[in-house]
Amino acid sequence: MDLNTPYDQENIFAKIIKGDIPCIKLYEDDHILSFMDMFPQSVGHSLVISKSATAVNLFDIDQDNLCHLIKGAQKIGNAAKIALKPDGIKLAQFSGNAAGQTVFHLHFHIIPVFENGHILDQTDPTDEAKNARLVKIAELIRKEINN
Ligand code: 5GP
Repeated sequence: MDLNTPYDQENIFAKIIKGDIPCIKLYEDDHILSFMDMFPQSVGHSLVISKSATAVNLFDIDQDNLCHLIKGAQKIGNAAKIALKPDGIKLAQFSGNAAGQTVFHLHFHIIPVFENGHILDQTDPTDEAKNARLVKIAELIRKEINN
């Protein structure tokens, strides 16, 4: 999957957009969708993807849709900032598998960073517990998106 890989309509995020695969949703409008990362690198790790552009990476997307995406990243990042009070927030985007991209539908990662950990940062004994924790964190973030 190099930087010229064509878009695959059956990629996992395309399936999430179509509703064929569930996600823990944070926000959706006509242009973007944001949801919790299933394998979070920190408490509150979320993703923002474009619904209207079929872009594999940063270099495939038109500027209007890129604007919607980056505005969405700011909106979700701001809600995570208020809800979880991290010390920092990392915004990440990987283009091409050599750079670490594993899902080939353009996305931004929003990764809160906590210098001394977060109270909700726990090891979950089961998938159910992990899912319940993600739902709880999502509720906290969603509340601030709607404020
Ligand atoms: P990449 O490495 O492509 O930049 O990031 C892909 C991200 O998607 C990873 O952080 C991974 O944990 C996340 N991910 C992969 N499959 C799924 C899924 O089915 N649902 C959700 N919510 N996240 C996923």
